[in-house]
Amino acid sequence: MSRPLLLASGNAHKLAELRRLVQAAGLGLTVLGLDDAPAYAQPAETGASFEDNAIIKAWAGAESTGWATLADDSGLEVDVLNRMPGVRSARWAGVGASDADNLELLLRQLDDVADDRRRARFVCAVALARPGTEPVVLRRTVEGRLLTGPRGHNGFGYDPIFLPDGYSRTTAELDPAAKDAISHRGQALRAIWPELAALAREA
Ligand code: IMP
Repeated sequence: MSRPLLLASGNAHKLAELRRLVQAAGLGLTVLGLDDAPAYAQPAETGASFEDNAIIKAWAGAESTGWATLADDSGLEVDVLNRMPGVRSARWAGVGASDADNLELLLRQLDDVADDRRRARFVCAVALARPGTEPVVLRRTVEGRLLTGPRGHNGFGYDPIFLPDGYSRTTAELDPAAKDAISHRGQALRAIWPELAALAREA
């Protein structure tokens, strides 16, 4: 088996994107998911930043399995809400809230906000942790603005209301490859490729 790389995400949508992006790198790593890591216990995401939470998740994987582990922490920052929901994006409408609940709450909160004040960005911090080494973490963003109603059925989370700058389609209207080409997660994964390539080269 080539070198294992654990993707530590319990979010099926994020996992699918991460898997696609790592495989697109064609590095020959054996990509594993949490189903392959029964000893992994989901850690509490207690960090104040995307970077802290990405490292917490990646470390939990590396420590419990001994494998190199990649984790992302991501979310939406809305300028008029002081960059919230931010690290609380997954639980904006409460613990256990669905993507639909979170999106509906956000739309209500922005109800009377004019188009030119609906600036937002998706943020992704990605961390690579390996036993015995310092974790590597980096962040990438994609800027855009929020629509007043959902459009499109691809993607997940807040994609149906996110219009990236320079685009006339939301990230839920883009096909997966087009989203990967510009998304916060796509950019972050491509930025960490050299670290993954170095891992793949190790005997
Ligand atoms: P995490 O699992 O704690 O990193 O939370 C990620 C949350 O941020 C998701 O549940 C979504 O609400 C939001 N999010 C992150 N990335 C995306 C994306 O690519 N599209 C739409 N929503 C996203």
